[in-house]
Amino acid sequence: MNENKDRPAILGGRAIRPQGPPDWPQHLPEVAERIQEALRDGSWGKYHGPHVAELAGLLAADHDCEHVVLCASGTAAIELALRGVGVGDGDEVLLSAYDFKANFQDVLVLGAMPVLVDVSSGTWLLDPASLEAAVGPRTRAIVVSHLHGAIANLPRVVELARARGLAVIEDAAQMPGARVYGRMAGMWGDAGVLSFGGSKLVSAGRGGAVLTARADVAQRIKLFTQRGNDAYPLSELQAAAVIPQWKRLAVANERRARSANLLIKELRPFAGLQPPADGMADSLPAYYKLGFLYDAREFAGLPRDGFAAALRAEGIAFDPGFRALHKTHSSRRFRAVGDLPHATRADEAVLTLHHPVLSEADADVQEIVAAVEKVSRHAEEIGAQFAASAISLSPQVGDSRT
Ligand SMILES: *Cc1c(COP(=O)(O)O)cnc(C)c1O
Repeated sequence: MNENKDRPAILGGRAIRPQGPPDWPQHLPEVAERIQEALRDGSWGKYHGPHVAELAGLLAADHDCEHVVLCASGTAAIELALRGVGVGDGDEVLLSAYDFKANFQDVLVLGAMPVLVDVSSGTWLLDPASLEAAVGPRTRAIVVSHLHGAIANLPRVVELARARGLAVIEDAAQMPGARVYGRMAGMWGDAGVLSFGGSKLVSAGRGGAVLTARADVAQRIKLFTQRGNDAYPLSELQAAAVIPQWKRLAVANERRARSANLLIKELRPFAGLQPPADGMADSLPAYYKLGFLYDAREFAGLPRDGFAAALRAEGIAFDPGFRALHKTHSSRRFRAVGDLPHATRADEAVLTLHHPVLSEADADVQEIVAAVEKVSRHAEEIGAQFAASAISLSPQVGDSRT
């Protein structure tokens, strides 16, 4: 075997993907064409043109959803959805202790109190069984996110919410176009949220959307955003970039799902990399990231962050997952239900693979497997150097933590 090639890149060997992870967004001729069109017809510089209206119509049709509000970001969309369902000063909002940081901040922005609920054991998703104990007299809404290729149990969340008179906001920023227990992702709650941020599966650099079947929710959002002008706008140029990507999303999601399934199968021998559970009825996930629960004991004690750094050095975009919200915020800012042991585990053990490589060929998936095998073979040596801080923790090739 080639000595240098078998040597982990983080220990000075040759990287398996010296070129690093694929670029994102992809260069798509149909996006370039749409933007050219918007340049030609002048709509690029207008407040109101055909693209925003067309995109809203497209999303409404594909989700079979009455009201679509396009806006500046997924973060703004969560805020608007919370306002839309009537969350305000002094209310409480339940969300997972392992979630996107901006969701927590959006609750605070409204003067409401985040109430952190644990995730299920063995995943990084909100545990519906923990919700009941979290409901108090001031609870108004539940925010629930699909994360890292795993689908949250919306049927159970909605059932509990109905029984307790709570609103549900389904955060599908990482799951556009996915099938969630028989419905389009975003269509389970009182409002659903999409993101068109720069790293997301459908990207305009920035942008987001709120989907809702409730006229009163849409009306409340309209009253808040329309001030003679739209205060949270998505521009014509952004909509022009999104439309062709949305039209090919189903095909792109299928391609990524095929790669993800192949990778999960090939990595099965590694007990220290636990993929999301599958087998949810009538569901088809979308993969913005592919998450794993990492167990250092299966890699000679190599800590998760060392494993991720070693993979990035190979040109593969593995990163630690989110920081859990109770680990990074003052306890004065939230109420917690219990000790959140599983969210603490997720904070320490989640690894994510960024999605662009999943849009490539099967050979690219095999490179990921080869990189994991290589790092695993040298896990002890990497761990020793890691512990001695001989290896810099700074991002290597292809850092993609967002
Ligand atoms: C990216 C993301 C958001 C916010 O989207 P932005 O458009 O980046 O503001 C919200 N929730 C989740 C789960 C996300 O991954």
